[in-house]
Amino acid sequence: MTTTERTGTGRVDGGVPVLEARSLVKYFPVRRARFGVGGSAVHAVEDVTLALPESGITAVVGESGSGKSTLARMLAQLIKPTSGSVLLDGKPAVPGRSYARAVQLVLQDPFESLNPVHSVRYHLARPLQVHGLTGGASLDGLVTELLERVSLTPADEFIAKLPHELSGGQRQRVAIARALAVRPRVLLADEPVSMLDVSIRLGLLNLLADLRDRDGLAVLYVTHDIASARYLADQIAVMYAGQVVESGPAAPLTDEPAHPYTQLLLSAAPDPDRPTPPTLAAQGAPPNLTRPPSGCRFHPRCPHAMTVCTQTAPPAFALTGGHSSACWLHARDLTAAQSQPLQGRGRGGQDDGPQQATAKETPA
Ligand code: ADP
Ligand code: MG
Repeated sequence: MTTTERTGTGRVDGGVPVLEARSLVKYFPVRRARFGVGGSAVHAVEDVTLALPESGITAVVGESGSGKSTLARMLAQLIKPTSGSVLLDGKPAVPGRSYARAVQLVLQDPFESLNPVHSVRYHLARPLQVHGLTGGASLDGLVTELLERVSLTPADEFIAKLPHELSGGQRQRVAIARALAVRPRVLLADEPVSMLDVSIRLGLLNLLADLRDRDGLAVLYVTHDIASARYLADQIAVMYAGQVVESGPAAPLTDEPAHPYTQLLLSAAPDPDRPTPPTLAAQGAPPNLTRPPSGCRFHPRCPHAMTVCTQTAPPAFALTGGHSSACWLHARDLTAAQSQPLQGRGRGGQDDGPQQATAKETPA
């Protein structure tokens, strides 16, 4: 995707975020413990804190299996966190109809969420009726407005169609229109363009930006594609193996990635519009989350790994401008033993240059 810089209008001031995740943890038990021993669990999300401001798009970026969907499902209150909390307008979220109305989830595959035997009209009218939002207006009029809101025009051409009569992009627009029907405050979009043809992705991303700008929605944009996150989002949180390893404003985070994992993601996503990141020769694949690596979960793949990385999980180090990175390379006070490179690995990948997490700060 070409990533012409957009001037995000996302408000990232000190106000109370619309939706917040505080220290969310999710373990999925995979083998039942007998007499309290022998159980194991997938450590899918580990201590994730995230804030979604009004009129802002926050991207969660990471490879498949990094816990992005699990995080989104916890935020939608479809699954219960093992620990941690979700706050709506600064107050503990209470699952139920009013929460479901305020926080809407849009999935990757609209075929999964649209009923093949029902028309577009049915899909959009139903939430209006269920939530009593017609207010005496004509249902078809409201449905038409929703279709126009997602640029499915002229609405008459779409209203009676069945899901299979629409293209993938049109189906996703219907899924978004259905989410908008209940006038939500938050839109959680889990890989909303990943199944769509590359040529129509941009239109969908621009629709999300428009919902932020015109309707003030707080948007969570979940993606494995850091280039699209840079294009669309105001803030980015990079997840690796269930944890946020780096977060901050989208442009500085992608121009000067501080965490080796973010550098790895960016080296796999060349983009003419931003400075070339350091190339990173990381090996291997994400870890098995039933037994995550000790210390930093990225250390088995990290060409910069030091002894301390195998021992202790790094805290999030605050860099400048609201940017933070959970990597021991930012620590000032490591001992010689702690900063010993791991046996058999050079410090640095193909490029041992200055960009390797040089900003040294104190833990956030
Ligand atoms: P992503 O969306 O980033 O691809 P997911 O949140 O879907 O990641 O998954 C994170 C981890 O949790 C993966 O290892 C996945 O296999 C595991 N996982 C997700 N849902 C379940 C479940 N219901 N039961 C067991 N493991 C799960
Ligand atoms: Mg997913």
